[in-house]
Amino acid sequence: MELPYAEPYKIKVIENIRKSSRQEREQWIKESGYNLFKLRSDHVFIDLLTDSGTGAMSDEQWSEIMSGDESYAGSRSYFKLLDTINELLGMPYFLPTHQGRAAENVLFSALIKKGDVVPGNSHFDTTKGHIEFRKATAIDCTIDEAFDTKGLHPFKGNLDLQKLEDVFKKYQKEKIPVCIITVTCNTSGGQPVSMKNIREVSELCKKYGIKLIFDAARFAENAFFIKTREEEYKNVCIRDIVKEMFSYVDGATMSSKKDAIVNIGGFIALREKELFEKASVYNIMFEGYLTYGGLAGRDMAALSQGLWEGTNFHYLESRIGQVAYLGEKLKEYNIPIQEPTGGHAVFVDARLFLPNLPKEQFQAQTLAIELYKEGGVRGVEIGTLLADRDPQTRENRYPKLELLRLAIPRRVYTNNHMDYVAACLANIYDRRNDITTGYKIAKEAPIMRHFTVELEKM
Ligand SMILES: *Cc1c(COP(=O)(O)O)cnc(C)c1O
Repeated sequence: MELPYAEPYKIKVIENIRKSSRQEREQWIKESGYNLFKLRSDHVFIDLLTDSGTGAMSDEQWSEIMSGDESYAGSRSYFKLLDTINELLGMPYFLPTHQGRAAENVLFSALIKKGDVVPGNSHFDTTKGHIEFRKATAIDCTIDEAFDTKGLHPFKGNLDLQKLEDVFKKYQKEKIPVCIITVTCNTSGGQPVSMKNIREVSELCKKYGIKLIFDAARFAENAFFIKTREEEYKNVCIRDIVKEMFSYVDGATMSSKKDAIVNIGGFIALREKELFEKASVYNIMFEGYLTYGGLAGRDMAALSQGLWEGTNFHYLESRIGQVAYLGEKLKEYNIPIQEPTGGHAVFVDARLFLPNLPKEQFQAQTLAIELYKEGGVRGVEIGTLLADRDPQTRENRYPKLELLRLAIPRRVYTNNHMDYVAACLANIYDRRNDITTGYKIAKEAPIMRHFTVELEKM
């Protein structure tokens, strides 16, 4: 028999988590304005809000925390991280930042101006926020297959080359400072981008003289999918795939809280000195001096170690295997999910799950609230609340997909936890036809409203 995957690590330290009663949870979620971001984590049993900064560091990463160098300038830990980025990503220049959106803030300050357009595959919310904050427009060029949750396309994060070329033809080159490929594509369901697509997008960008960067938060998970789903890469090792992926781009912004398995950290990696120097000015202004950029020396040291661990094949196999495990469980209960499952999360199709609830009443958010009340499990809405209002018309934007995301922290939960989550959803699915009323907005912020929005029951 073929041997199944097993975690290539064992547990050295544990953290206790507490169960609660349904009555307590109903009270807590009401007090939180039905916004799961406002819950205390002590009131959550299994926390699948995000895989961002929630991973468990290894003993070797904790050793790096102890041996980090806290010098203001020229820190040894900075050079350690520089060496890793050079070697692993093949990028000669880098700037440390405190997290991914800080990298966006710094790099976009150097690149994007009012009236620009920035094409890409379903930009992440902070990325879009940083583009729109500069009065520029993000244009989604993801393939149409990404928006059909039942279609089995292996690379639903791919860009549609025709849509992209249309943008390049419609706007002057000066209006398109950069094209962004998000690997894996978080917003469309943690879906990977194929090497072929990355290569073709890169060729198209070169043809039109447009810069190309990665939003690289989950580059290693993307590399795993290239290895397991793209025939010609099945015998290529993860790190060679990573090297090739980065060979097609001019740079990257990275949230290290994802695939580098640290609790805080980010960076910008760049190929050209000129852009590096331009961005350096903003890094000093917003983040800190060039050799620490908003991070402690120990953070950079742990991040460097995390980049090596995050690109280990056996780790990725168990990581992505666990996501697939939860997806399979949900399918056994006939729960509609985005297929195939992506890298870091299972996405439940809330529109199909709750057919009797109108979209104006926030289907995915309603499902997220039900799941919390059912078993103390915290997921997150990737739907209308997140899509926010149109900056011009201020009307609600109804995205093509209305999803409940169950993001799985790295190296934190066991498959017993996954079974528990699946059982909670199965119970809600049994009574789905009785869920006919949702929520309305009581209070919201002008931008990125989902973090702070307050809701009322209809
Ligand atoms: C998390 C994330 C970001 C932002 O990073 P933070 O570290 O949360 O600031 C940007 N892009 C993608 C794809 C992400 O997943």
